[in-house]
Amino acid sequence: MPNGDTLAFENMLTYGMNLQFGVVDGRAVLVHPQGDRVTDVERVSDGTLSSDPLDCFANWARLRRLAETCVDAGTTVSPSDFDAPSPRARQIFGIGLNYRAHAVETGAPIPDSPLTFTKFSSSINAPFGDIPVTVPTCDWEVELVVVIGNGGRDIVKENGWQAVAGVCVGQDVSDRLLQRATQPPQFNLGKSRRGYTPFGPWLVDAHTLANRDNLTVSCTVNDVEKQRGSTDDLIFDVPTIVAYLSSIVELLPGDVIFTGTPSGVGGARKPPEFLQPGDVVVSTLHGVASITNHCV
Ligand code: ZN
Repeated sequence: MPNGDTLAFENMLTYGMNLQFGVVDGRAVLVHPQGDRVTDVERVSDGTLSSDPLDCFANWARLRRLAETCVDAGTTVSPSDFDAPSPRARQIFGIGLNYRAHAVETGAPIPDSPLTFTKFSSSINAPFGDIPVTVPTCDWEVELVVVIGNGGRDIVKENGWQAVAGVCVGQDVSDRLLQRATQPPQFNLGKSRRGYTPFGPWLVDAHTLANRDNLTVSCTVNDVEKQRGSTDDLIFDVPTIVAYLSSIVELLPGDVIFTGTPSGVGGARKPPEFLQPGDVVVSTLHGVASITNHCV
């Protein structure tokens, strides 16, 4: 416990509160309540837990116990120091049309099973990273993002939340023209341009998040609110998505699921609106944290 006597008690990491997990300089960290200080996982665990985020996801219960018992002053960070909280995710799933009002605004029928696409991992962006806008049809989609803990196959719906390590907010940035360039549409490439997958800034432990089935996400573009939705409006909720995906593919530690966007995307507006260099997108998971992305 470094310098314990010289620091104000409220600056110490003293758990009994929700585990918050982040990644700074590629290393796993415990994030202090205000998000302004972090504690290195490998250091504070005396090497029993690795600095590798994927290793932490595979050992999430041990990480939680570490957080419950550790007392540490941590080091100061600024928002731009955070990487995405699963920066080397091996699989990133997106769920389309998962809010009724958004399905209606796109003119698409309500799906009868989760409409699933891929965001390729090379599109992962930091929570405060810039979004390169290189096309005229770049659009916003604020979403609740969940990151998988242990993972596995054939996870039953009743255990769906237990398979989730933590939650955060993200932007499923989308090139609408590319997304619909073919018939039938193939979303994957239109969702995977450089910088199109910012999320974070850190994860809140799903295990201890009291209102995890009723979380509010919203986003503003240049301080004008464009989207707001609550996850109790999801057509397929998080446990249903986890059960569905794991019935087909193995979910791996650190996998990322973008759970769908509420209504208010730019492409569905009359007239349509799209992102341009200079725009600022702020995405918020209410009661948790926000991310900010500048379009360049
Ligand atoms: Zn989306």
